[in-house]
Amino acid sequence: MESTMQDFPLTIGSLFRHGRQVYARSRVVTYTGEGYRESSFGEVAARADRLAHALNALGIGRGDRVGTFCWNNQEHQECYLAVPSMGAVLHTVNIRLAAEQLAYVINHAQDKVLVIDGSLWPVLSKVRDQLTTVEHLIVIGAAEGAPDDVLDYETLLAAAGTDFAYPEDIDERSPAAMCYTSGTTGEPKGVVYSHRSVYLHSLAEVGMFSLTERDNLLAIVPMFHVNAWGLPYAGWMSGIDFLMPARWLQAEPLCRMIAERDVTFSVGVPTVWSDILRYADAHDEVDFSRIRSVIVGGAAVPRTLIESFQERHGLRIIQAWGMTETSPLGLIAYPPKDAPAEEEFAWRARTGRIVAGVEMRITDQTSGEPLAWDGKTSGEIEVRGPWITASYYDAPAPDKFHDGWLRTGDAGMIDDRGFVQITDRTKDVIKSGGEWISSIDLENAIMGHPDVLEAAVIGVPDPRWDERPLACVVVQEGASLTPADLIEFLSSRVAKWWLPERWSFIEQVPKTSVGKFDKKLLRARFAKDELPVAKAPD
Ligand code: AMP
Repeated sequence: MESTMQDFPLTIGSLFRHGRQVYARSRVVTYTGEGYRESSFGEVAARADRLAHALNALGIGRGDRVGTFCWNNQEHQECYLAVPSMGAVLHTVNIRLAAEQLAYVINHAQDKVLVIDGSLWPVLSKVRDQLTTVEHLIVIGAAEGAPDDVLDYETLLAAAGTDFAYPEDIDERSPAAMCYTSGTTGEPKGVVYSHRSVYLHSLAEVGMFSLTERDNLLAIVPMFHVNAWGLPYAGWMSGIDFLMPARWLQAEPLCRMIAERDVTFSVGVPTVWSDILRYADAHDEVDFSRIRSVIVGGAAVPRTLIESFQERHGLRIIQAWGMTETSPLGLIAYPPKDAPAEEEFAWRARTGRIVAGVEMRITDQTSGEPLAWDGKTSGEIEVRGPWITASYYDAPAPDKFHDGWLRTGDAGMIDDRGFVQITDRTKDVIKSGGEWISSIDLENAIMGHPDVLEAAVIGVPDPRWDERPLACVVVQEGASLTPADLIEFLSSRVAKWWLPERWSFIEQVPKTSVGKFDKKLLRARFAKDELPVAKAPD
């Protein structure tokens, strides 16, 4: 017997058609610093058609890579729709990479055309001479100092035809988009999403985020960080309104956008939302009342952030987990239906529950054997599923895979209902006298102190215990703290042997290109004696 179902390919082209037809009146709004420019989905789609014509005329065909070097804005969304629908591959380049990594990823992906935000020209121009495959540079808006041979985005669109004939025979397994990991070790590695993986991930996201036409998304996550967590596609297919902040990613303009544009939903890494919280605490007028929830992930979300937003501003933060390699959605922390009200925050502070479509397991780091889902046994998290990568683009990495599962490099526990608690990156966990200390748990406990703005904990060599925690702390403006104050605060919150002897009070925790704590840099600074270290009293 065979199924009677149509074998219909899951492609970005079909997702694109759905949004443009059914939600032609939904809007893509871009902040300009002074106001907003708005287009309907119908207008964005028509411009995407023109872009497809223009790219086609520049020689872009199936499988060719089109890089973008842009903030979150309408033109970027046009690239998201046009490029994969033509059969080409969208490579969203991280605008915050260091120069050598920037040249590396563009050359490695073999981008043929690069679409650049004019305001980012000074960054790109530094590596332009090192680009070996790029044939055309297309610039959006004014680009001071750009040479005459760059092409202007609007001029190209104005001269291009309408009604592009997108190919209808695109294989759902063919490449649609790619992102490089923000890898803090070694060269960045390329993950190539297929049409099918993007489509299935979008459906999952529409469901798990409950996206509908009534939503107005403030898209804070950069479109170069795992496809803005998949929202340009999930949002387009569900007809939400997009509010793109462009380069205005500071708390003050973001809060202005929230107030002026009736935002209902948002996303971002914890550091951005900590900045917003600090701003909102200092300015009574910030109104979050229209926001139904905010998905925060990309790094562990401190419980204090979740609690403070809820209690002081009525804003509901939901934690999620993902990776560039997982498209990214893998876990989301909605409390279970039988959770008592007093446990609400404890559930939301967990990393999350496994999303349907994704399979997870934990394995013993030495034997590789799967471990029990008892909520206590800790191992390395491994994951598989239709939107999880099975390899890296042109970069063999056999140690990252295990019997068809992706090794995440995250350590944690799973309980019998599929709730996962990530305790650390396997590289960051601190091994003290043969026992493990979770740097994430310790950081969260320290950040629970009202006078602490940020805290990052790293393992440093110790003659007696092999490794001990060094707590790097940023104190709130106007406050002062000593190691003794923090030890006293922590004493009732963590095991005694976790209490750090070494403390470093710093001005700010360094961040990676996607806004996460950069512990690699902290370790390097410690090794070079560049961190001031104070000892706690015995
Ligand atoms: P990236 O590919 O840059 O997005 O980084 C993925 C990594 O971010 C994961 O492997 C985790 O280590 C970390 N991460 C993402 N979300 C969370 C979370 N909710 N809690 C803890 N770590 C997270």
